[in-house]
Amino acid sequence: MSEQFDVVVIGGGTAGLVTASGCARLGRRVALIEREALGGDCLWTGCVPTKALVASAKLAHQMRHADAWGLEPVTPKINPKSIMNSMREAQRVTGKHDEPEKFRKLGIDVIEGTARLVSRSKVAVNSRRLTAKDIVIATGSRTSVPPIDGLKENGFLDHVSFLKRDHFPRSLLILGGGPIGIEFAQIFRRFGSEVIVVEMLDEICHKEDPDVIARIRRILQEEGIAIHSGWSVMSVRRDGGAKAVRIENTSGETRELRVEEVFVASGRRGNTEDLGLEEAGVKLHRSFVVADKYLQTTAPRIWACGDVHGGLQFTHVAAYEAVKLVRNMLFPGKSPVSYEHVPWGLYTDPEVGHIGMTEPEANAALGPDRVRTYSVEMIDVDRAVVDRTPGGLLKFVCDSKGKIVGAHALAPNASTLIEEVVLARKKGMTIGNLAGLVSSYPSFADAVQKAASLYYQDVAKGWIGNVGRRVAAWSQ
Ligand SMILES: Cc1cc2nc3c(=O)[nH]c(=O)nc-3n(C[C@H](O)[C@H](O)[C@H](O)COP(=O)(O)OP(=O)(O)OC[C@H]3O[C@@H](n4cnc5c(N)ncnc54)[C@H](O)[C@@H]3O)c2cc1C
Repeated sequence: MSEQFDVVVIGGGTAGLVTASGCARLGRRVALIEREALGGDCLWTGCVPTKALVASAKLAHQMRHADAWGLEPVTPKINPKSIMNSMREAQRVTGKHDEPEKFRKLGIDVIEGTARLVSRSKVAVNSRRLTAKDIVIATGSRTSVPPIDGLKENGFLDHVSFLKRDHFPRSLLILGGGPIGIEFAQIFRRFGSEVIVVEMLDEICHKEDPDVIARIRRILQEEGIAIHSGWSVMSVRRDGGAKAVRIENTSGETRELRVEEVFVASGRRGNTEDLGLEEAGVKLHRSFVVADKYLQTTAPRIWACGDVHGGLQFTHVAAYEAVKLVRNMLFPGKSPVSYEHVPWGLYTDPEVGHIGMTEPEANAALGPDRVRTYSVEMIDVDRAVVDRTPGGLLKFVCDSKGKIVGAHALAPNASTLIEEVVLARKKGMTIGNLAGLVSSYPSFADAVQKAASLYYQDVAKGWIGNVGRRVAAWSQ
């Protein structure tokens, strides 16, 4: 006997929770199916635990370098179990927002189990059969394990397996220099591990602006992290109690590195197996669900949002997409998703805040002649100096009329600092408009005015130059 619902949501991470609660609040009969625990990657194995560890690692680093603040440096006693328990306490507190009872109170039928589509409108879970007008796939993503000789056979860590442990390896090789790999590299290093990052591309954090990348690279290297970019991991073998990892660069040069553990952070894949998607007419691209700009899959009335459909894999993007999806599913007309004004953070210390295009992206899109950049070093921002965090910068990438096409910050709380620019861009303000804002002193926002005032110097230079040239031509 099939139970009737308006909407069945598969996956109880951010995307699924926001979709289910949105539909329930709009009076729909909703079932939400989750095979592990509500909260998904963000709460259990992603944002929350890693940022809690970033905070502990930052404190350990500051203790070692307390002389910068005029205090006696101390070597912190690193007790992995107590650090991991402190992280789990942060999870417990944030997890209160994702407890099943909260969603049941909204009238949602929260079902523990693994879901599978049995037709375009029917879902099987445990021994139940649910029929729905609309079905939402929000099953998220997981580590994609590359087919490297000996990797699986000899064992490896990823964010999920590491976060279950109470032990930090003495040495590790991190496979992948993207956000996950780099955040973990700094965490492990600050907890005392020897860390090697191997990145196949020429640069780590390749989505960031080159000025930001250069500084992150320098900061990580100064902390003792070895970075091999332009190198690929070819094989892993056991060597006594260690793992011997052979890496190779594009010129065919090879090296063998000995470490206690290999940590895989080189990519993600969608959780799309055993869901009955293809049989229901839902197309996949590689492992991700294909969805259009309205978040509609290739099968009628089956929708997808969050990590499972690839694209920008962030919690705030999953939530944004879920809101759009609910709107498109339940109301007439359609509203497309747009990522133009979506920022992101990279939670190294100091943090990265990113919105819009990098300088190379703007050069490619607009042509280098039409791109202007305005940068302020944090050493010139008094707040960064008094806080003893001077190594960063704020960089604006604009067109020749001052339209902000991108902005990139490396500073404490840069993910918050960049929000001012996100709002300005969204409201169509130019960098010139930002120069007119008054910020508290001393604040990091001061960097925004400082960079914006460079724009006026640029304009004035152009104007004075033009007048000068005219006067010179006239007087000849
Ligand atoms: C180490 C790490 C750090 C991160 N840090 C950040 C950060 O700082 N900021 C940020 O914005 N993003 C961060 N992210 C990304 C963020 O965690 C994801 O973008 C976000 O969790 C995606 O949400 P989602 O709902 O799409 O998927 P998920 O959170 O993965 O939820 C999917 C859910 O579906 C369930 N599921 C899967 N298949 C089935 C099935 N057949 N039946 C029932 N249930 C099923 C899963 O158990 C899971 O709970 C990080 C990711 C990682 C890995």
